Amino acid sequence: MMQLYDYRDGYRFRMKCQHCGYHWHDRPADLLDRGDMHDRMHLDEVATQIQCRTCKRHAVSLMPIRVMKTHHFSGGLA
Ligand SMILES: [Zn+2]
Repeated sequence: MMQLYDYRDGYRFRMKCQHCGYHWHDRPADLLDRGDMHDRMHLDEVATQIQCRTCKRHAVSLMPIRVMKTHHFSGGLA
C-alpha cells in the first residue's frame, strides 16, 4: 500500500468528489502542509481527510498522477 511519502516527488493528486463531481489538483506538499496529514498515511486514509472544495462532503477520491521523472524509488515497505 502506497503512502503519501512515496509521492512527495514527481506526483500530483487528482481529487474528484463522488458527490458533486467537482475535481481539482493538489501537490503532495500541499497536503503535508495541513495539520491533519502526515507522510506515512496511506492514500485511502488521506482521501477520507479531504473535503470537497465546493459541497464540503467527505466523498473525495484521490488519484496520483506522475508529473516528472524521478531518478530513484524509495522502496517504502517499512
Ligand atoms: Zn463535492
